[in-house]
Formats: sequence, structure tokens, C-alpha cells
Amino acid sequence: MRHSRSCDLNHLISLVEDVVEEVQTEELGNNLDDLLACTDRDPLYVYKSKKCYPRTVVWELTLACNMRCSHCGSSAGISRRDELSRDEMFGLCDELGELECERLTLLGGEPLVHPHWEEIALRLKEQDVRVNVITNGWMLDDPRFCDRIKNADLSIVGISIDGMEKSHDALRRRGSFKRLSRGIDLLRAREVPVAAVTVVTQDSLKEIDELYDFFIDKGVKVWQLQIAAPLGRLLPDDPLLIQPHQIQVIYDFLYKKKALKPGLTIDLADNIGYFPSGNNTYCRTTRRNNKNWIGCMAGIQVLGIDSNGDIKGCQSLPSIQRFIEGNVRVTPLKEIWNNPEGFSYNRRFSRKQLGGYCADCRYGSLCKAGCSSTAYAYTRSIGDNPMCIYRASREKAPDQNMNLGQLKKQGRKLIENNEYRRALRLYEHAISVNPQDWRVLDILGFLCYMTGSFEDAAEYCGRSLEIKPDNPYSLKGLGLCRVEMDRAQEGIALIQKAIEIDPEVFDAHFDLAVVYVKTKQYEKARQHFENALAIDPNRSREVNRALSQLERLNNPSS
Ligand code: SF4
Ligand code: SF4
Repeated sequence: MRHSRSCDLNHLISLVEDVVEEVQTEELGNNLDDLLACTDRDPLYVYKSKKCYPRTVVWELTLACNMRCSHCGSSAGISRRDELSRDEMFGLCDELGELECERLTLLGGEPLVHPHWEEIALRLKEQDVRVNVITNGWMLDDPRFCDRIKNADLSIVGISIDGMEKSHDALRRRGSFKRLSRGIDLLRAREVPVAAVTVVTQDSLKEIDELYDFFIDKGVKVWQLQIAAPLGRLLPDDPLLIQPHQIQVIYDFLYKKKALKPGLTIDLADNIGYFPSGNNTYCRTTRRNNKNWIGCMAGIQVLGIDSNGDIKGCQSLPSIQRFIEGNVRVTPLKEIWNNPEGFSYNRRFSRKQLGGYCADCRYGSLCKAGCSSTAYAYTRSIGDNPMCIYRASREKAPDQNMNLGQLKKQGRKLIENNEYRRALRLYEHAISVNPQDWRVLDILGFLCYMTGSFEDAAEYCGRSLEIKPDNPYSLKGLGLCRVEMDRAQEGIALIQKAIEIDPEVFDAHFDLAVVYVKTKQYEKARQHFENALAIDPNRSREVNRALSQLERLNNPSS
């Protein structure tokens, strides 16, 4: 049952087993400001405060699946060519026991089509690992199969339900809603604990209240919500994907139901977050209060296993080279887990990994851009996550009634605070009010450059130059963009032209010097650093620091 990537089932498993009094509160405290102060001082604070072990593991038993869901994050259907053999899987169970794994979820594809799922579950139980399964529910229609599940003594059976009958079947397979619905009854009759897992899409969001009533009627005890992300069969422009501002709808729903104190616990997966504005601490579940998000735990307390033995920090991360830490056929799991170079994106996290809005976000050091898998799915960077309620609230469109002067004034303040993304939104609005304002175009060029959108920055500088062709500021800006776009010679020529027009601009000399350093033209770099110093001796500290770095580059032995 591969839904829109597995997104983690950690909370789901925890809740049902009633062990969710997360270490967070005990070990780290739960005051957000305190936590932030600690991670601002040391971005590895959370990692260092927690025991590092594969506490929660998700194991893709097979990629084979009896469905072809259109939102499947790993395009499941056919098994991998090189899936682990029964003996190799048994060896892995023992290794997981040695590493003190506490809970493990069997996942697919559809894990229940794997011929050895029961033996694997048993072997893991012998290692004191609590075992769960997440299934698409297709096979639960058969009482004898439900007997087998009962006998396997799984601590919970999670069933993917992505909407009411029509929308669920449209995504998955015709007839599947009816089958899983009967399956829930059969499992409950056998006293097997059942949870529901829903991928929130535009369709399921509309049916969220109906789904809630359905689960209450069915006696489901836990319901995990996670958002769909553009991986596998879901493309980035798929109309099923929800928009960032709709995360608020999910929170509103959670708060509303929490107030009702229902028998059904609703739990948010890691990819729904992260810091709803106005709430210092907030809930991620209807069951408890005040659980702050403390960053992705992949490779810290979470581990993912692909059916061919590839190991990742989390099963939700795509199976690509940069996330594969090793393969258990080649290297024992213990060695992979204990590799000092392994899982570096979390174990050696630095704020430099953050990009886009997350780079300037006040929560960045603690949040680490939320769910790495979701961030990657949207931006191909684990450090820039647009699916964030905090970001959505900050990036919301500026007040359309603000006049140009107010927009610029507010924009300047944001720039002073290094809040470039928010400033960008304001200035984009300002240029729509007056498209000929070359000063605004220059600032937009600067903001795009600072947020890493070099092509957009170049376009704004170009538009400014069409209005004011000899503007040294836009020439220099365009030049810097060209350098970033791997057109260094063109870039240098543009900055030189800016200097010809106005030789007395500190920044132009300084920036040109930096470009010369980048292109290893050290003598020219020195000359322009010195020119910059002559223009503004008050900035000698900055220039002298650059000059001594240049010296080191020039004479590495000195
Ligand atoms: S903007 Fe990024 S770093 Fe800030 S809370 Fe959202 S996901 Fe986390
Ligand atoms: S990638 Fe990190 S945040 Fe996302 S589901 Fe996995 S462990 Fe959780």
C-alpha cells in the first residue's frame, strides 16, 4: 500500500501503543522560545539531546502492489528486480533487534502480498520489536485473511483511506472502498486495533468531515492525516495537491475536533506543520497539548528500508543516491547506522542547508525546513519547504489597499530585517502598481538575487536598464547574476561598465573583486579591494578581512 510516500507513521504507531509521551517533553522541554534559543546557539542541540538509534523503522517489504494509485509516491506496482530474499530479511530482523529498534511498520507496495510478511513479523517480535502494517485494505475483504492478521498479533493495522467511496476508488481501485470498509468490520470483530491513514488532497479535504463521521461509526481509534506531495506518480502541477494556505484548514479541523474530545484521535503526520502563527505551542494531535515540532528525525531516531536492502534516513525520502546510505547486502546495518559520515543532512545539520523562505525563518534552526521528504518533493532541496503554515501566513499577499509609499516603507523595513522573501512579495505588488519604477525594479533584482533566483533577478535588472540604460546599480546587478548563471566573462564586463559609469561606488569594486576571487584572478581582485577601500575607508574591516582571505588563497602555505 504505497500512498503518497509513506510519510511517517511514527505518530500513528505511538498513539495506538499509548507510548506517545514523547521524549521531547522530558528531554528537551516544551517551551518553544527555550528550544529555539538552544537550537540557535547549537543547531545540533536536538540531535545531541536525544539517543540516536533506529527507534522507529518503516520497511518496504516489496514494491509489488495490487493497486496502481494515481497519487503513489513511489510508483509502486511491480516488485524491484533485486528484492531481499527470505534469509536476508531474517538477518535484517536480527540486526534491527541488535540496534534496539522499538517499532516497525511493514509497508509496500502492498506489504500483505509479500509471501513472507507473517514470518518477518514473527521474527521481529522475537526481537522485541512491535510490528504494524499499513495496507491498502484490498485483501481485508476475506475473513480467513483477517484471521491470519489476527494470528500475526500486529499491534495495529493501518488502512489507507483517501476519501469517501467515489474519490477513494477514483484514486485507487474500483471497489476498494467497499472492501476496506468490510475489512474494518472483520478486523474489529477480531479485536484487531485499526487506524486510518488519509492523504489529504483537494478531494479528501472537501470530505474531511464526512470521513470523520465514517471513522467514528466504524469504531476506528486513530486517524492520521498527511498531505500529498509531488513524488512518484504525482506531478508538481497536479490539481490534487493542496495549496500551502489550505494547511490552515487542516489545523482548524484538528482544533475543532480536539475541543469535542472525541473517541477518535486525530494525528498530524510530519509533513503537516509547523508553527501556526499566534500559537506559541500548538497541538499536532487531538489527544494532547503543546507538542512542538522539533525537526526531521530521519537518521536520528527514524530509519527506512527499501525492499532491495537500501537504507535511508526515512522511508518517505525518495530512493535516490543522495539519500541512500548503504545497502545491507554490502554493509551490515549496524555499520551503516554508525557511519560517522552517514545521515549528514540531519546529524550534521547546519543553517546553511536552509534556502528560500526557510533560510531567513526565525524557526529555521529548530524546524530544519520541516519534513525533508516534502521539502525535497516541492523544491528539490530539503532546506526549502513551501508547505508550511507559518510560511503561508507570512507570505500571504500584501494588502491591496496599501499605496506605493506604504509598500516601499514596509519593504525597506523587511530588507533591514533580512526578510527578503516577504519584502519580495511587497515589491512585486509595488511594481504591478507602477511597472516603470526603475528603483523598484532594482530592488526586485536585489531581492531575487538574495533569494537565489538569479534568472528572475537578471530579468528585473534588464527591465530597469531598458528604462535607465546607464544605471550602474542595475548593470552591476545584472553582471552578478550572469556570473551566477555561469556566464562569468559577460558578468565581469557588465560590472566593469558599471564602474566606468561611476568609478566611486564601493560595492561595484568590492563585488567585482569577489567575482575575480571566484574566477581565481587574484591580482585583479586585490586591485579592486584596494579601490573599494580607498573609496570608503570606514569599511576597512570588511575589506581587510577579504584581503587576508585572498592572501591565504594566493599563498596556501602561508
Ligand atoms: S518557513 Fe521553513 S523553517 Fe520556517 S517554520 Fe516553515 S518550514 Fe520551518
Ligand atoms: S523525512 Fe523526516 S520529517 Fe519527513 S516523514 Fe521522514 S522523518 Fe518525518
